[in-house]
Amino acid sequence: MRAVVYNGPRDVAVQDVPDARIERPTDVLVRITSTNICGSDLHMYEGRTDFPKGGVFGHENLGQVAEVGDAVDRVKVGDWVAIPFNIGCGFCKNCERGLSAFCLTTADRSVMPNMAGAAYGFADMGPYRGGQADLLRVPYGDYNCLKLPPDAEERQNDYVMLADIFPTGWHVTELAGLRPGESVVIYGAGPVGLMAAHAAMIKGACMVMVVDRHPDRLRLAESIGALPIDDSKGSPVDQVLALTNGIGADRGCECVGYQAHDPEGHEHPNMTMNDLVKSVKFTGGIGVVGVYAPEDPAPQDPLYKQGEIVFDYGLLWFKGQTIGTGQCNVKAYNRQLRDLISTGRAKPSFIISHELPLQEAPNAYQHFDARDDGWTKVVLKPAA
Ligand code: NAD
Ligand code: ZN
Repeated sequence: MRAVVYNGPRDVAVQDVPDARIERPTDVLVRITSTNICGSDLHMYEGRTDFPKGGVFGHENLGQVAEVGDAVDRVKVGDWVAIPFNIGCGFCKNCERGLSAFCLTTADRSVMPNMAGAAYGFADMGPYRGGQADLLRVPYGDYNCLKLPPDAEERQNDYVMLADIFPTGWHVTELAGLRPGESVVIYGAGPVGLMAAHAAMIKGACMVMVVDRHPDRLRLAESIGALPIDDSKGSPVDQVLALTNGIGADRGCECVGYQAHDPEGHEHPNMTMNDLVKSVKFTGGIGVVGVYAPEDPAPQDPLYKQGEIVFDYGLLWFKGQTIGTGQCNVKAYNRQLRDLISTGRAKPSFIISHELPLQEAPNAYQHFDARDDGWTKVVLKPAA
């Protein structure tokens, strides 16, 4: 089969690799028809993780079931499924509590003692190959495949967002504690920040502010009713305070991660976290889904080599704010969000800028990584 293979920093190629296949009776094999490039892939693409050379990218996957193992009961050949980026078992202590991003069965214990969580094509998240390929092996297929309604094939650009970023955008508003009628500020207008804004609008936020400096991304935020805040035109904190009578937003969402930078391009891994503490009100809540890796092999800030940042902890404590962090437990939300899509209440495909065949992946990575104007979200179509 063909797959998008990582050959080193900013070097990916579409290569032939051994076919994915059923390896255990609980596996499901999926023929991939839509697979997104994610901001999380870019940390790996840029060589800012220990993702191994020769590994296959792709954790935002949708397709049609091609084969099922002998122990699979619920999923049938021919089903259209969206596959959460987390690989859970469904029966460990964390999966049972809905924390499928922290599965204890599928995690790679060689990373660190007590490691939790696994994902496809992801640094430190186990040996599982990604789905930017013709075929994907899905472990514990009954648990990890979300069945889609009859309109799955024609609306796969919406449903593919269920694999990661729509649930992740929803999750960050949950971590922040957003309730109807409250205001929220979102740092980052990439796909994840835009999905957080979409979620906040559906949940009935009174005001959704989105901070970034790319006009194309800010325009998309505006198109769904959010207030764009351009941080290249002035301090985002001052702009949020001006819009909230000097009080700050009720809730804040971090959708950038450790490669946060100023509008000139200099990285400051603490920048959005400290801006959030300042732009959220006393007793407000902050959700953080932007990735903060525990180690950075090529840090721009030497402190971040070990994942450390200079953080305004005193101000956070003084303001009585709370923080929630981590990977999204996709299974906690994907069923309900699927139904919001199928009834037309949600339309996450509004962020897609490019639909491309798999062979175009190297070019697409280059443009998306450069955050080139108009490259907001790429869906690769291996079957095209
Ligand atoms: P992206 O890189 O396309 O978007 C990030 C955006 O942040 C860019 O538009 C950039 O201009 C903006 N930005 C950079 N510095 C900023 C600053 N100081 N202030 C405001 N905006 C700033 O990526 P994405 O796909 O939207 O993903 C965002 C983050 O979420 C990444 O770190 C990704 O790895 C992570 N992620 C986490 C989960 C999870 O489960 N927790 C899931 C998916 C993605
Ligand atoms: Zn992703």
